Amino acid sequence: MRLVRPLENLIDQLVKLPTIGPKTAQRLALFLLKVPEDEAKALAEAILEVRLQVFPCSVCGYLTDLDPCYICQDAKRDKNIICVTEEASDVISIERTGYNGQYFVLNKEFHVMEGHDLDEINLDSLEDKLASGEIKEVILAFNPDVDGEIMARYLASIAEAHQVKVTRLAHGLPVGGDIEFTDELTLRRAIEGRYEFME
Ligand SMILES: [Zn+2]
Repeated sequence: MRLVRPLENLIDQLVKLPTIGPKTAQRLALFLLKVPEDEAKALAEAILEVRLQVFPCSVCGYLTDLDPCYICQDAKRDKNIICVTEEASDVISIERTGYNGQYFVLNKEFHVMEGHDLDEINLDSLEDKLASGEIKEVILAFNPDVDGEIMARYLASIAEAHQVKVTRLAHGLPVGGDIEFTDELTLRRAIEGRYEFME
């Protein structure tokens, strides 16, 4: 069966989105066919607007429509502490914890198995900040996997060269987890991230 060209075109665009397979793309396209014209227009405009107006902050790399971003401009935030993350989405999660320091977002996926090189990560503005002496602590908020481990060691060596303290998130056991079935890396990080326990 052949669909008319505009429908086929929409399905072809939707199927490029993450987690959308051909069946879901078709279902979405048929759904969009029925939405009121103003809603369809608003969706198309919203997509264009983020594409044209949202960009990484030149200071921290977080997504913004103003440069520097609102976090970098906020005088009430702690200027002595900086949290390094891989993606802007990690900042959204960390903001929910009440963290009040600065950020540095790499905005670059690093996968050692895909032959990525650490030199591809642009750390110029982070190094400038470290060199200024303003930063007292760098928190490395990388995923607890092999790539996160490699990046953490690399970033730690750079921060240590500027005599800045480096910390990592404690990757503990999941609530309801079982030590017996916990993988070695998680358990090792949980032991390293142990904290003083008081009655
Ligand atoms: Zn910023």
